[in-house]
Amino acid sequence: MNKGTTRALRFGGRYVAETLYTPLLELEEAWMACTQDPGFEEELGSLLASYVGRPTPLYFADRLSHEVGCKVYLKREDLCHTGAHKINNTLGQCLLTRRMGKTRVIAETGAGQHGVATATAAALLGLECEVYMGVQDMRRQALNVFRMELLGARVIPVEGGSQTLKDAINEALRDWAANLDSTHYVIGSVVGPHPYPTMVRDFQAVIGKEAKRQILEAEGRLPTHCVACVGGGSNALGLFYPMEGDPVEFIGVEAAGAETLSLRGEPGVLHGFHSYFIQDPHGQIIPTDAIAAGLDYPGVGPQHSIYRETGRARYFSISREEALRGFVTLSRLEGIIPALESAHAVGWLLAHKEELSPDALVVVCLSGRGDKDVQSVEEMLSAKGSGLECV
Ligand SMILES: *Cc1c(COP(=O)(O)O)cnc(C)c1O
Repeated sequence: MNKGTTRALRFGGRYVAETLYTPLLELEEAWMACTQDPGFEEELGSLLASYVGRPTPLYFADRLSHEVGCKVYLKREDLCHTGAHKINNTLGQCLLTRRMGKTRVIAETGAGQHGVATATAAALLGLECEVYMGVQDMRRQALNVFRMELLGARVIPVEGGSQTLKDAINEALRDWAANLDSTHYVIGSVVGPHPYPTMVRDFQAVIGKEAKRQILEAEGRLPTHCVACVGGGSNALGLFYPMEGDPVEFIGVEAAGAETLSLRGEPGVLHGFHSYFIQDPHGQIIPTDAIAAGLDYPGVGPQHSIYRETGRARYFSISREEALRGFVTLSRLEGIIPALESAHAVGWLLAHKEELSPDALVVVCLSGRGDKDVQSVEEMLSAKGSGLECV
């Protein structure tokens, strides 16, 4: 076994306090039971179709293809109900909660996107929902706080520490340990202790399963490249995983300021799992600074660390300017305003078009829509002096 493989085997795991060990085993058992139960798949599949709007289109982006110099398809997760892929996972976990006989879900949220997706699925399924959020994040994202309340959730302010996402995660873990009988903790990406990374991957794999079938129908061949932005890594893994055994190149795109795999991260342990994290030499986490809230996390799911060490996927970071160029270019060429997160994936295409041959066939995961980002993009562009002209 080479060194890379030995190291790769260590990623993931269940690095938690003893009080959470048994609940994680129970969760794994409940989840395994659901994967064996055709009734669960049927119930989830039916809600994904009638409520979320799946399958989402795989759209041939003609004008973008001309700009890039090869065929580009967009997997339109921006057309999911609530405007992003996160609902695929929160709906699955809320359904699992009901199956486990629990009545309450909790979640943590930074910018509010995962909180809103959890509150939405909880409203749909009649579950009580409480969302932990740092007070600083609550101030910055006041509208998402109201959105969650409108959906019937209670937002619990977290005053401790840096008053942001990582403190909210700690509070949510504490709540979970104290209320195990009634409560399931909904984690929002392919991160956290086992079985979360595997379970979230399986809920998001609907993206790649559909995309694979759709591209074979449209083109009669597999894509040469799959491209997706990476925060925790769930939309990317959802697209990649069903094509893991196929000769398809995987490109993960991180944001400048949060380049966990492409530049600054080192293996370590945080939030119950072993993976790459952006940390100082003593293992203290360094705060990240990405322009897209969904990419602003100092770690990445363990499967991406494995992909990186085995070379199965390549990871790049995209600068603010390149991401803004992706945001504006997709809007102008295709009439689609992408989430700033997804704009990083488009930005990679524009920045790397020289390395794509004319017969390349690229699938880009458009993880979300950009309505939420229009105001901040306007501010960033006008701060640079000349608005849209400088892109
Ligand atoms: C949360 C979010 C992301 C990042 O999360 P992943 O788990 O890496 O997919 C990307 N895009 C959008 C639109 C998001 O809301």
